[in-house]
Amino acid sequence: ASAAMYQAKSKGLRNYLFYAGESDAPSSQRLLLENDLHRAIERGEFVLDYQPRYELGSGRLCACEALLRWQHPARGRVSPAEFIPLAEETGLVVAIGEWVLRECCRQIARWAARGLRLCPVSVNLSARQFHRVELLGTLRSALDETGIDPRLLEVEITETTLMHNTDETLAILEQLHRLGIKVSVDDFGTGYSSLAYLKRFPVDLLKIDRSFVNDVVHDADDAVIVSAIIGLARSLQLRVVAEGVETSEQVEFLKRRGCDEVQGFWFSRPLPPAELEPLFGAP
Ligand code: C2E
Ligand code: MG
Ligand code: MG
Ligand code: MG
Repeated sequence: ASAAMYQAKSKGLRNYLFYAGESDAPSSQRLLLENDLHRAIERGEFVLDYQPRYELGSGRLCACEALLRWQHPARGRVSPAEFIPLAEETGLVVAIGEWVLRECCRQIARWAARGLRLCPVSVNLSARQFHRVELLGTLRSALDETGIDPRLLEVEITETTLMHNTDETLAILEQLHRLGIKVSVDDFGTGYSSLAYLKRFPVDLLKIDRSFVNDVVHDADDAVIVSAIIGLARSLQLRVVAEGVETSEQVEFLKRRGCDEVQGFWFSRPLPPAELEPLFGAP
């Protein structure tokens, strides 16, 4: 143990010396965060919250999204918007992403064991995680170990991930489908996917990025974009979700345009498992 500790320390020191040369505050902040991130899994500092997704027509809970939270011992909660990009750059996102997948499957299994009428749960996959050969193996073993129904698991990849290495992407998506896992395209509208690609790839759902939903009632351009995405999803027979819904005016707009599903603070913030459970309804 002491040898391992020494190794970890000397590695930390090397990193420190490497970065110290740059001597600007943001990078030393970054380094501190990076070192802590290395240990966050073993220290059990990660948890998942779950944000409900509702069907707009029926008001029914139809899915939820697992969102990673880092409870840092000194800084408190660090936003995934802050540490996921860092994890992505350093490659740590692969180990973190594997933890997320396994923990999500374990949570689904715990809920299923109690006989709750649960909904599918979606997990965000980073670009790096999506293109690693281990992904499908990890998914298979997580499904096997927990014995959950694969239809209860969905994955979200961003539009940008979808557009890279397109042949490989197609093969991975097909294998995910063979496992029975649905695929959503996250942050849709922020990338540059063409109609042809969307038609070629076996995806199930488009999640309209919340930057378009935010101002949809007052910004004519955003209204046109959101309406166009809903129309696009409809003509390709994909389901469509609006993210970041915060007001009843946005809900009314989305209803009029025929959006299938909604997710956002207007309905619910991301919740710890114990607070989500009551929404499942009795067995
Ligand atoms: P995302 O996948 O697009 O997740 C939706 C984000 O929007 C979440 O932020 C959620 O809390 C937030 N949100 C939901 N409704 C509203 C709303 O009405 N208003 C506003 N202003 N925000 C809303 P969060 O949890 O901070 O996550 C940020 C991003 O971090 C996620 O964006 C996703 O890209 C990434 N992320 C989170 N968890 C994971 C993970 O387990 N793995 C990976 N690779 N990325 C993750
Ligand atoms: Mg997402
Ligand atoms: Mg999104
Ligand atoms: Mg996002």
